[in-house]
Amino acid sequence: MLIKVEGAGVCATDLHTIDGEMEPAGVTLPRVLGHENGGRVAAVGDLVSTVAVDDPVLVFPPFSCGLCVACRRGREMLCEHHEFTGLTVDGGFAEYVVVAERSVVKLPHGVEPVDVAPHADAGVTAYHAVKKVAHLAVPGTTAVVLGVGGVGHVGLQLLRELGSGAVVVGVDPNPQRRALAAGLGADAVLDSGEVVDAVRDLTDGRGADLVIDFVGTDRTHADGTGMLARGGTYSIVGFGGMVTVPSAAMVGNEHSVVANLVGNWIDLWEVMQLHARGKLTLKTETHPLEDVNDVLAKLREGEVTGRAVLVPDSSNGRERA
Ligand SMILES: [Zn+2]
Ligand SMILES: [Zn+2]
Repeated sequence: MLIKVEGAGVCATDLHTIDGEMEPAGVTLPRVLGHENGGRVAAVGDLVSTVAVDDPVLVFPPFSCGLCVACRRGREMLCEHHEFTGLTVDGGFAEYVVVAERSVVKLPHGVEPVDVAPHADAGVTAYHAVKKVAHLAVPGTTAVVLGVGGVGHVGLQLLRELGSGAVVVGVDPNPQRRALAAGLGADAVLDSGEVVDAVRDLTDGRGADLVIDFVGTDRTHADGTGMLARGGTYSIVGFGGMVTVPSAAMVGNEHSVVANLVGNWIDLWEVMQLHARGKLTLKTETHPLEDVNDVLAKLREGEVTGRAVLVPDSSNGRERA
């Protein structure tokens, strides 16, 4: 089907791609980037049956065949025929994008594509990661979110929604993003300097039972593993650094490390149900598509709070203030 793009979120993975860091994952340039796409169905092939022209949709970025074992297990992001809209095939920093029917999630009534485009990757990724460990976030535990950016600010809210009463701590070097974390219901917010000590202080020396790292630098990997309580779990979402941990410490403290790759289609569908019920705030700012390079530079400088969304000139999508 052909989707008329109304909004495309700008993600740190776009920067990784431009910098050539995604080549080991088979992502090469030139490519039309844009993997957080919302829009309206503009045209469909003869066999399409689940959506019609003009339906508002999000594009689930992993291509999934539906036939391989990973797909049948509901792990579409590990599909044997893996492709990714906006990374391995052309994406939504454009007026139109072409996707298979399996790739769209129809939006719940009253939800505008431009307002939720970042959920297509940021939301689904945060949801997949938090859902996997939410059972650990029980009363009496402390869950730390490292990095309250585009993905992290959704993850923080999901810990609140899917967790079961853990103290939720947001960590970010940027004061605006710390304020965002506080506004979204974090029980505590911390600067990222000396954060291991700060988390130990906050927990009477015990440390964090759960750390979700939405940044993924050498620094956050060291902080995240360094602040874990005995029996704690370190969950990696952001990537790029090296995780270096003595196995004796991992075994002696029974630490777990898990990693997360996007999510599956149903994760995205479930995020949209939560969003439609008003349970999630997605902080976005819109920019004209032609400003893409300025927006990428702004993201690189850490000057985006929440998610920047590119809007094509031709879009009749509702503009946000
Ligand atoms: Zn992304
Ligand atoms: Zn498959």
